[in-house]
Amino acid sequence: MTISFDLSGKTAIVTGANTGLGQAIAVALAGADADVALVGRSSMAETEAAISAEGRGKCLTIQADLSTIEPVQDVIDQTLAWSGRADILVNNAGIIRRADAVDFTEADWDAVMDVNLKTVFFLSQAFARHLIAKSQPGKIINIASLLSFQGGIRIPSYTASKSGLAGLTRLLACEWAGKGINVNAIAPGYFETNNTEALRNDPDRNSAILGRIPAGHWGRPEELGGAAVFLASAASDYIHGVVLPVDGGWLAR
Ligand code: NAD
Repeated sequence: MTISFDLSGKTAIVTGANTGLGQAIAVALAGADADVALVGRSSMAETEAAISAEGRGKCLTIQADLSTIEPVQDVIDQTLAWSGRADILVNNAGIIRRADAVDFTEADWDAVMDVNLKTVFFLSQAFARHLIAKSQPGKIINIASLLSFQGGIRIPSYTASKSGLAGLTRLLACEWAGKGINVNAIAPGYFETNNTEALRNDPDRNSAILGRIPAGHWGRPEELGGAAVFLASAASDYIHGVVLPVDGGWLAR
């Protein structure tokens, strides 16, 4: 049996692909020859430029605000109208709100749960409905977190959403594995993106975090791409319901 990471002929949907981890994942999937629908509420110009510089898979931008589930069917429909297929869904878009638990507001609770968990579920549902109707296999990759395993501090809705996402990944894997849909997650460690800017700008938190990472450095977004390509490819066909840490060894500590 030949092990293949090749994604040629496949179409991927990546949410929050304009920056950070989503951008790196989109570029990595295109580098493995997938066509990629870049979904989000911001300009995708930087990601489009990076993909076209590689000269591999092509891309489409879909404007969508994922703070509600209103655009989810349109994301699938636009992808199908563009490429005629949708094989891979990467639920990457996510937000974080920081405050002590005693001060945390309902607005910060709802905003994070809506983007990080509710929309992920309903977009996955729309994607799976399409695959199941066509009797086609597919791959869903959820971007979880170390807070899928640990508690953290000052991010109650984020921890609840990412812990919930790990459970949702397992539930969807159980329901859809038999239909040829692999549902898995990646748990990034501490990566250099907007999401962690506040931590990196706080000298005490920065050195405490760095001192605990066995690899000795903050993750660089491009260090996540290989795991995404693996979970999107035939190489992971018998893998269902895992949450794969890509964390420089943080959880091994
Ligand atoms: P980021 O803030 O750079 O990117 C977040 C992405 O989500 C952006 O593209 C943003 O536009 C998009 N997004 C947010 N709200 C949206 C909305 N309402 N509609 C559409 N798009 C929306 O941060 P990142 O670190 O690249 O985060 C990507 C994912 O990785 C998130 O789910 C985050 O929780 C997760 N994560 C990041 C780290 C890290 O260390 N950076 C660690 C663990 C998990």
